[in-house]
Amino acid sequence: MYQHINDQVCQHCQGTSLEILDSYMNHWIQCNDCLNVFRRGKETFPLDDLIKQPFYNKLYKSLPKRLKKTVQPFLSSTHKFEDKSTWYDYYSKSLEQDYKATKWKKYDDEFLNFLETIDIDLQGKDILAISEGPGFIVNRLRNRVNSIALTEVSQHAADTMAHMLKVDSYAYDFNKDDIQQIVKHKKFDQIWLRSCIAFCNDIDRLAGSLRKILKNESIVYIKFHAPSRLNCLHWMFNIVTTNVWYNPETIVRAFEKNGFELLYPYTRYRQEEPIRLLPRQHWLNTMIVRYYQKLAEKKNKYFTREDRSVYYLCTFRLKQS
Ligand SMILES: [Zn+2]
Repeated sequence: MYQHINDQVCQHCQGTSLEILDSYMNHWIQCNDCLNVFRRGKETFPLDDLIKQPFYNKLYKSLPKRLKKTVQPFLSSTHKFEDKSTWYDYYSKSLEQDYKATKWKKYDDEFLNFLETIDIDLQGKDILAISEGPGFIVNRLRNRVNSIALTEVSQHAADTMAHMLKVDSYAYDFNKDDIQQIVKHKKFDQIWLRSCIAFCNDIDRLAGSLRKILKNESIVYIKFHAPSRLNCLHWMFNIVTTNVWYNPETIVRAFEKNGFELLYPYTRYRQEEPIRLLPRQHWLNTMIVRYYQKLAEKKNKYFTREDRSVYYLCTFRLKQS
C-alpha cells in the first residue's frame, strides 16, 4: 500500500501537501495532512553523481588507497546493499552476548515496568512477541507466562532463537505473510510489537490480521518511534531501514477500525539523551551529516521537528465480539 510513493499524493490519505526531506541515501516524505512520514530509498547516492563527472572521476582514481577507502561506503556501487534477511541475522549473533550488558536488558526493564504500572498481568498468559529478536526476554518470563512465542523476519534468526532459547519461533514478515497460517491458528492473550511497526507498510491490514489470532478482550501492546526530522536524519546511511514513521493517531485509527479500543491514553516518552547523529566519527561522515542537517533546517519548514528521539507506548484491547 505504501510502496509506491510518488511526489504528488500521499498514499495513506491522498493528501497533496507533501514535504520532502533529503538525506544521503533516502528521501523522507511527510504528508502534512496525516503527518505520517514515508521513506523512499535513493537508487544512486550523491557522491556517485559527483565522481561520474570526468574531472572528479580522474581525481577519484588518483586518490591514495586510504582515501578511496574512506569514500567507498558512500558510493552505491560499493555500499553493501544488504538483503533484509541477512541484515536481521545480527540478532542470532547478539544471543551469544551477556544479556545484562546489552541494550535489550534496558528496553526489557522499561517494558516490564510499564506493564506493571498499567496492571497488565503476564501470569499464565499466552503471548506472541512479533519481530522480538534477539528474544532475551523469553528467559525472564518463561516461568511466569503459560507460553511465549516469537517471530522474526529472517528464517535464520527465527531458527537460532528457537534453538538457543528453546521457544516456538516463526519466520514472519508482516508485509507478506498471513500470521494465522504462520502460528497454525493458535490464539493468544497478548501480542507485543516492540519497535517494529515502522517496517509495516499497511497498518490497517496488520491490525485486521492480529485480531484473528487473539482471544476476546486480549491485549496488543505497541512501542513505536514518532515521525521526526531527527529520526529521518539518524537513518541517513542505511538503505535497509524503516519504511514509515507513523503518526500515533494513524495507529489508533487503524486498530479502532478493526475492533480494538485504546486501553490507556498513549504515553509519550522523550529520550533524555539526544540521538547520536554521528555514530562513525570520521570527517567525511561528519561533513555529510552536517550538510543534510543544515539543509533540513533551511528547507523543511513543516517537517516534524524534534531534537530528541520520541517514542510512544500504546496498549489496545480487543473488544468482545
Ligand atoms: Zn497523508
